[in-house]
Amino acid sequence: MTAVAASPFSIKDFFKSFMLVELFKGMALTGRYALRRKVTVQFPEEKTPLSPRFRGLHALRRYENGEERCIACKLCEAVCPAVAITIESAVRDDGTRRTTRYDIDLTKCIFCGFCEESCPVDSIVETHILEYHGEKRGDLYFTKDMLLAVGDRYEQEIAANKAADAKYR
Ligand code: SF4
Ligand code: SF4
Repeated sequence: MTAVAASPFSIKDFFKSFMLVELFKGMALTGRYALRRKVTVQFPEEKTPLSPRFRGLHALRRYENGEERCIACKLCEAVCPAVAITIESAVRDDGTRRTTRYDIDLTKCIFCGFCEESCPVDSIVETHILEYHGEKRGDLYFTKDMLLAVGDRYEQEIAANKAADAKYR
């Protein structure tokens, strides 16, 4: 004996459709929220506040005397789960070790923040900058000079965010 398949439509559904019940339910929901305080913003004209811990575009920082903070310990490179950081280093004439190459491939980066967390000298950081883009793959390959330039430009904000977050660490 073969089972008879149940009809996909019922009389009740038919009348609900006919009386536009779902439409009125939707309009009632819209009406309920129409006069409430809006939680959406008109981005990019309006912005939401960002946490000091926000993880955006990377930057390399310098000390106040202009010296690079990075000591080429390569902890950030080792900890990066996306293998997005490439570092090469050399010893300078004064005996200090510094990077000769520091690249981050942002197409690989997952913005986990591990590099920033691992850095013993607060050199590599993630800034609050989120509005950037690349039109081809190479545009998102940030070299040492590019990262230092971001750091130089936003040092005040980076330092302020670090200071705001310091008490929670
Ligand atoms: S944020 Fe995470 S994935 Fe991106 S470079 Fe740093 S450690 Fe790697
Ligand atoms: S950025 Fe920090 S963790 Fe990475 S190599 Fe330089 S000093 Fe080490």
